[in-house]
Amino acid sequence: MHTTNTTEKLIDTFGRRINYVRISVTDRCDFRCVYCMAEDMTFLPRAKILTLEELAQISRAFVELGVEKIRVTGGEPLVRRNVVKLLGDIGKLPGLRELTITTNGSQLPRLAKQIRAAGVKRLNISLDSLDPELFRRITRTGELSQVLNGLDAAREAGFDKIKINAVILKNRNHHEVVDLVQFAGSRGMDISFIEEMPLGVIDDHNREESYYSSDEIRRDLARKFTLVPTTEVTGGPSRYFSVAETGTKVGFISPHSHNFCDTCNRVRLTAEGRLLLCLGQEHSIDLRQVVRTHPGDTEKLKQAIRDSMSIKPHGHDFNLQEKPLIFRHMNATGG
Ligand code: SAM
Ligand code: SF4
Repeated sequence: MHTTNTTEKLIDTFGRRINYVRISVTDRCDFRCVYCMAEDMTFLPRAKILTLEELAQISRAFVELGVEKIRVTGGEPLVRRNVVKLLGDIGKLPGLRELTITTNGSQLPRLAKQIRAAGVKRLNISLDSLDPELFRRITRTGELSQVLNGLDAAREAGFDKIKINAVILKNRNHHEVVDLVQFAGSRGMDISFIEEMPLGVIDDHNREESYYSSDEIRRDLARKFTLVPTTEVTGGPSRYFSVAETGTKVGFISPHSHNFCDTCNRVRLTAEGRLLLCLGQEHSIDLRQVVRTHPGDTEKLKQAIRDSMSIKPHGHDFNLQEKPLIFRHMNATGG
């Protein structure tokens, strides 16, 4: 019988406990959001991508090291074939408290029920605009009606919580923040606004020119809503406010204006098996090599993960004025 050492914890050299892993199950996507990808992208060849079995084994290693929360992301996680099987396998790991997904919503009309049945209780759905034309311009290939149908399908499938994520760009969608809060609030959903991060070279816009800060969004919302600060901490970058008028919450993810590195509790696994110790730095180890050199040996994986704690950097230094320091795009990162 397999026993789990529930007392083990991953602690980095700055004393931060790592109990949250984001796993990118594919770098591919049916959308080409302008802040995430260039129009013309080259994706990884299949042999370089971790198999579903490898992903399940690495997830097990993390959970045995005290990780309590796993987020499955991408690229678009729901375009990976048989992802529901993987979700079921991860969801069953003893000790895991929360399994979540971040999705663009396009596949939810087809998959929402199966995902819920596989044990996923919470979903994050990305939605940057309620205007079909603007939605198309931001996602390049996305269809708003399909995402809204996906959102409805998710609500019908009975998830405990559905949260909306919106990346806000000045002079693109910044005028929609009030409508987005209204939309989410009227459906009982929370919403987080994300400042664009300089990951990868993009060809659509200048990131410095399109920067719209969380403080500006908050100011815009305050004209319409009463925002009450909450003490909720997720160990993550979000700061939350409750909206008195809707009873739901608004979060702000502010990598530029409010640095969140001191309380960082997470690491990321890329689709090709690189364990990234920080979103904004290149410190990483190659877990694909470990899992392929020692197939089935979870202990080897655990030792590699423990060792990686010594190179988790203190923080990112995102800078909008300079050329990107980080050349990987968000879809390759596991956002
Ligand atoms: N495809 C899924 C989705 O869009 O929800 C999951 C992967 S996507 C990379 C995860 C989140 O990262 C999305 O909410 C997306 O809006 C956000 N994102 C992508 N590129 C970003 C960037 N450069 N800066 C900030 N957020 C970004
Ligand atoms: Fe795809 Fe998500 Fe990136 Fe948009 S943000 S291109 S939906 S991975």
